Amino acid sequence: MATATFLFHGELADFLARGRRGGAFDHACARAATVKNAIESLGVPHTEAGRLLVNGRPASLSRIVREGDVIEVFPRGEAGGAGDEVPAFVADAHLGGLARLLRMLGFDTVYGNALADREILEIATRERRIVLTRDRELLKCRDVLRGCFVHALKPEAQFREIAARYALPRHMRPFTLCLHCNLRLEAVGRNAVRGRVPERIAGRYAEFARCAACGRIYWQGSHWERMREMLGALLAVRLPGA
Ligand SMILES: [Zn+2]
Repeated sequence: MATATFLFHGELADFLARGRRGGAFDHACARAATVKNAIESLGVPHTEAGRLLVNGRPASLSRIVREGDVIEVFPRGEAGGAGDEVPAFVADAHLGGLARLLRMLGFDTVYGNALADREILEIATRERRIVLTRDRELLKCRDVLRGCFVHALKPEAQFREIAARYALPRHMRPFTLCLHCNLRLEAVGRNAVRGRVPERIAGRYAEFARCAACGRIYWQGSHWERMREMLGALLAVRLPGA
């Protein structure tokens, strides 16, 4: 056993037992525990830890905890590690509303309400996706290289969290994905949709988008306009109009 002093900053305190929030505390760690093992035994998934300081010096999650260590853990900064790569996600079964909002803005998001944890982990690894979940046990799996604990309960607030953490406004391509299939839509003219949409719609709009998988046709009508306004308000940005 090695007893170390822990200090968790910012929102990381939310993961701790009540008595441990709001300051430093001592904790006896298992023999040869790594910092990852130690912070997860205290309730903090490794995916949520950003900068680490051990005895005032930068350290990694794989460092072995030694007697008397002082371990400070900071939350992942906003947009931390996002870089210029457009993020792709896999959302767990409880985050359907969030998945739909992400798809509206063009972010490739795998979601199914029957996805088992095992499948989520496999998809995330194989396709380099970020795991979105409110299940912190899932994020403690060592297979999860990139994951995000979603704190909020409502889809709109969840979306704002993810948007800030992964700098989503920078990468968004609104209305480019099928909301049902998560596949890139193809642009088609009105001749391609005649007979598939009401005649007055085909007459009024010149540009449409079609999903090759399910055949759904999208156009910039009043429903689209409402989604555009709702997303713009959520992100506090102006989305391009029709
Ligand atoms: Zn589709």
